Amino acid sequence: MTRTFWVGGNWKMNGSVASIKDLATTFNAGKTPADVEVVIGAPYVYIPLLADTLRKDWAVAGENCYVHATGAYTGEISPEMLADVGAKWVILGHSERRHILNESSEFTAQKVVKALAAGLKVALCVGELLEEREAGTTQVIVNTQLDAVVSAVSESDWANIVIAYEPVWAIGTGKVASPEQAQEVHAAIREYLKAAVSPKVAEETRIAYGGSVGGKNCKELAQKPDVDGFLVGGASLKPEFLDIVHATQ
Ligand code: PEP
Repeated sequence: MTRTFWVGGNWKMNGSVASIKDLATTFNAGKTPADVEVVIGAPYVYIPLLADTLRKDWAVAGENCYVHATGAYTGEISPEMLADVGAKWVILGHSERRHILNESSEFTAQKVVKALAAGLKVALCVGELLEEREAGTTQVIVNTQLDAVVSAVSESDWANIVIAYEPVWAIGTGKVASPEQAQEVHAAIREYLKAAVSPKVAEETRIAYGGSVGGKNCKELAQKPDVDGFLVGGASLKPEFLDIVHATQ
C-alpha cells in the first residue's frame, strides 16, 4: 500500500495576527502536490484566525489539549473546543511537553484517547534524549512511549494517528538525524507496531520524522522507505515550508 506523505508544521509559541496573515497568504499562493497531506499546528488563540485564512486543502492542528471536554480546569483547552474552532488535528506528546512540562506517556495516552473521541486526528510525538541515544536505549524509550498509547487505543484508532519520530537532540538544534538514523528508528517503530498492534497497522501507519528538517535536507530524508512525512518546527514559520511540502517531488 502507499502511505500518503504527511507534512505537519508546528509553530509552537510563535506568531501574531499580522505574521499569521502574512504566512497564510504565502502558503495559500503555493502549490501542494495532490498526494501530500499538510497540517499546520498553531497556538490555541490563533486557531480560528488560521482556520479562516489558510487554504482549505491544508488542515489546522492544536499543539496540545486536555483530557476533559469541559469543567473546572482553569487554563486548559479541550479537544472538543479545538474541533469547535476549526482544528482537525492535534499534536500530542511533543518533547517540549514531555520534558519542559513533565507530561508522562500515560497522560499523553489519555489525551490521545480523548482527542480521537472528539473527532480529531493525532500527531503523536515520540523520541529520545541525546543521553538516551548515547546509552543505546533509543528504541526502548520510543517503544515505552508508544506502549502507553497502544494500551489505551483500539486497533482501528491507528487510522487516525500519525507517529512523529522526533529525536529530542535534533529539535531546534540544527542537528538533523541522518537519513539512515531516521530510517533505522522508523523501521523499528514499524516492527514494534507489527508485534504490539497488527501487521495491518504497521503497514498503514504513517511515521513522520521531526528535528531540524529544512528545505535543504528534506528530499534525502523523504527517500527513505519508512519516512512517511515530516513534523517541522522552525522552518514551518517560513516560506521554506513549501519546499518541504514538495520533498517527494
Ligand atoms: C518540532 O518542534 O517538532 C521540531 C521538529 O522543531 P524543528 O523543526 O525546529 O527542529
